[in-house]
Amino acid sequence: MPSARPSPAARNRFDFHSHTFLTDGTSSATDMWREADVLGHRALAITDHVALEDPAPLLERLRQEAKAWENEALQTLVGVEVTMVHPRKIPDVVRAARRAGAEVVIVHGETPANPVPPGTNRVVVELNDVDVLAHPGFITVEEAELAKAHDVVLEVTARRLHIVANGHVVRTALEVGNDLIVDSDAHATDELVTFEAARTVARGAGVPDAMLARVLTETPRRLLRRCGKP
Ligand SMILES: [Zn+2]
Ligand SMILES: [Zn+2]
Repeated sequence: MPSARPSPAARNRFDFHSHTFLTDGTSSATDMWREADVLGHRALAITDHVALEDPAPLLERLRQEAKAWENEALQTLVGVEVTMVHPRKIPDVVRAARRAGAEVVIVHGETPANPVPPGTNRVVVELNDVDVLAHPGFITVEEAELAKAHDVVLEVTARRLHIVANGHVVRTALEVGNDLIVDSDAHATDELVTFEAARTVARGAGVPDAMLARVLTETPRRLLRRCGKP
């Protein structure tokens, strides 16, 4: 593969949501991280889907693949996306993922594109140890306020399937003052998005120009530190 790898200083893209063939993606973690490296990412989290099963084998496999990136400019994050779990069970699944060593925990929010169990957004924003509520769909002001109080970052998604509610998410977050990030939710290497593409998604969703640096750089940096990465 031809790779003009960006210098560490030029790396400005952070992505906390992607998948591999270990669940419903089509690329390996190694291939995802390699492509992210070429695209100039500073960090890429693999967050494969988990439900009530033991998350340990999945996380162990991802950790093994992440070893290839130790001491590299690209930061790898190994995590999970808690997906389609009954809201009553979500806190247990989040705890199990943390116990199994997940560096980042996101939850598949109430996108209008899937029959996500109603009440998912509400349970997630009441927890203290979820990093990101992915594609939250028609999140309410009250839920957004709880997300802010518990430091759950809201996601603006670049994934076509889920983009329909991005405008609503941004509008609500601006009203409440939530932190936002732009994730790819890539299921293959060619679905990862560059910094410029993420910027276009943010602007298209209604993020004002004055807030782009916060959404694309400052919040992701803070989140990366919280996930235990330098
Ligand atoms: Zn999802
Ligand atoms: Zn996803």
